[in-house]
Amino acid sequence: MKPARVRFAPSPTGHMHLGSARTALYDYLLAKQTGGQFILRIEDTDQKRYVKGAEQELIDGMRWLGLEWDEGPDVGGEYGPYRQSERKEIYQKYARQLIENDHAFYCFCTQDRLQKVREEQISNKIQAKYDGTCRNISLDEADKRIKNGESYVIRFKMPKTGTTSVHDHLRGNIVVENNTLDDSIIVKSDGLALYHLAAPVDDHLMKITHVLRGSEWLPTFPLHSLIHRAFGWEEPVWVHLSVFLKPSGKGKMSKREAIDLAKDGKSIFIKDLLELGYLPEAIINWIALMGWSYDDHTEFFLMNDLIEKFNLEKLNPSPAAINFTKFDYFNGLHIRNLSIPELSERIKPFFLEKGIFPSEEKLHMLTPIIQERLQTLDDAPDLAGFLFEEEITVNCDDLIAKNTTQSESLMILKEIYEIISKFPDVKHTTLETPMRELVEKLGYKPGQVFGILRVAVTGRMISPPLFESMEIIGREKVISRITGAIRLLEA
Ligand code: GLU
Repeated sequence: MKPARVRFAPSPTGHMHLGSARTALYDYLLAKQTGGQFILRIEDTDQKRYVKGAEQELIDGMRWLGLEWDEGPDVGGEYGPYRQSERKEIYQKYARQLIENDHAFYCFCTQDRLQKVREEQISNKIQAKYDGTCRNISLDEADKRIKNGESYVIRFKMPKTGTTSVHDHLRGNIVVENNTLDDSIIVKSDGLALYHLAAPVDDHLMKITHVLRGSEWLPTFPLHSLIHRAFGWEEPVWVHLSVFLKPSGKGKMSKREAIDLAKDGKSIFIKDLLELGYLPEAIINWIALMGWSYDDHTEFFLMNDLIEKFNLEKLNPSPAAINFTKFDYFNGLHIRNLSIPELSERIKPFFLEKGIFPSEEKLHMLTPIIQERLQTLDDAPDLAGFLFEEEITVNCDDLIAKNTTQSESLMILKEIYEIISKFPDVKHTTLETPMRELVEKLGYKPGQVFGILRVAVTGRMISPPLFESMEIIGREKVISRITGAIRLLEA
């Protein structure tokens, strides 16, 4: 395949979510796979919907996911500027060209009149759309009216009869009756172009070869296609991706649903997923498979595999339900795929956030013993944060092992103390044999003996592996905790 030039063209109108991340990912994969370019273009023509901070969130989110772009607002490039609000003059020039070629027209209709027409159409049960009043005003006359200060918009002149056929790479030919198409506004009365004009113009000028986007753009797809044709430009390959459905599979994801998900500790927003302890690798793996498959069984993919294996022909246009169970599963897989130093680095911020400051050394000791048990990174302080606490509370009843009396447990713990205090460290390799011998000598079950020790040094009935935990707690604290527990049992 020839090098593809693809653009991810988000509007900075809210949080970056899974749907936009998936579009960006497929763009990125196509560009990398073909040795082409991945372009970030900010589509901020709709100033009313502009959300401050949204662009930065996008940029941070994409970088965190590993979707670095070759051209974009912050990195520049040959075809900039890459923010539509900085390209106003370009769109004006192209709008005028469309008018001169009779593919667009100035429209002077007032809001009032348009509103009345609309109401009439609705009451007559006909499709509400522009009634064509200004379509045939000559360019000379229009220019005069503009000079006289009349307010106007620019509309695209849709064909009135026949049909238009547009081609989507996944969905094939889509044929629409032209009499259902509206003369859409492409430049507003304040002179600003709408997305409908800006996107095709930019796609052409930026030499975009493939447009990948959500299928919510299918209704305006004929308009965009026709704008390319009106200029005589070659169209990009159009790919309208599948929509995401609610986890239940019943209906599209909505704002409401997103709020409900948050109550369950789930989210569709990239910045939340970071905070919830998901790995970017897991997100990439998960969303890659929401609308694409390699074969019917391979599930684990890293970015490099995806770059190699991604294929437009294997995209699936059917809606895909968001499956968080699968997501947790992928997160687990990717956590276990990380090296110890790498995983230590990733769990560290989650400890810091809880006010726990483990040393690098202890973090490295801890990581292998919890790696198997982490589903998300933020499980780490819950599982093991107590190992770094100065003080623990021990419940006396917990110190009494099953099927033993208080005095038996006390005796066992004293024997344990005798052994542990004899050795210079509490390493697994040092204590394993003498402790096993002790169990043998005492004639109790290992679960009883180690259970008492576990409660004495961790305060818990369940903990990560005992000897490894003791190593992290450190010899001094282990000894003093055993002494404390002995006192508790004596009391
Ligand atoms: N700005 C549009 C959006 O955010 C982009 C659509 C397209 O890729 O053409 O959905």
